Amino acid sequence: MIQKEGDLYHLICGICGEHESFNGILEAVEYKKNCGWIRRGRDDGDGWENLCPKCYSIHRWRKKVTQRQNDTIRMGDLMLDWNVAERRLEACEEVAGDFALRFAIKPLRIRFDAGERTAELYNEIMGIAL
Ligand SMILES: [Zn+2]
Repeated sequence: MIQKEGDLYHLICGICGEHESFNGILEAVEYKKNCGWIRRGRDDGDGWENLCPKCYSIHRWRKKVTQRQNDTIRMGDLMLDWNVAERRLEACEEVAGDFALRFAIKPLRIRFDAGERTAELYNEIMGIAL
């Protein structure tokens, strides 16, 4: 998880403790994506942890690569940017410390991963309060 402390968000490696701090959750998620951090399910099954690129390569833990279509889709007057939606979904998951929020987000993640790209899902993801 990304830990929130005051106004800062800390991205912390679950293995070595390496960390980076950010002013916003979306910034932290963007950095994570761009700098080769990965997320994996925790061994105890409770959520997930983030791994820095160093630990990722040492442990050779490989993420199942799924081909995702994250294109921007126009639906009438509405532009659905699924890259933005995915960042937001991930940001929500990262700050979803409490069970209720995780419970609310999980069905959205399942629909997203299953390839649903509807305006309804998009609006639901973008409508989650961060
Ligand atoms: Zn590490």
